[in-house]
Amino acid sequence: MGTISTMARWIRNYHRPVMKVKHADLKRYSESDFKTICPMCEEGLLLVHRDQTTLELLRHDHCTGCAQQVYYIDSNINGEKFKEDSSHGR
Ligand SMILES: [Zn+2]
Repeated sequence: MGTISTMARWIRNYHRPVMKVKHADLKRYSESDFKTICPMCEEGLLLVHRDQTTLELLRHDHCTGCAQQVYYIDSNINGEKFKEDSSHGR
């Protein structure tokens, strides 16, 4: 049993299927309304990203620790709506 490097774990998780999560059900990181603890590794954080121009919330996110990709199924976070991602085409 060898230990795999952090980078190897990162790459493996990045290619895993996207995990659908409900932001409202995740553990909050400190007092932030947006940052949550990753449900996969329970070490990394999910930060919630925003569109660079409109600042709308983005549904796709990934863990800063293990790189698991997530997709938020909530209708909003803390009253803020998500950008509709139909324009991405994937
Ligand atoms: Zn993680």
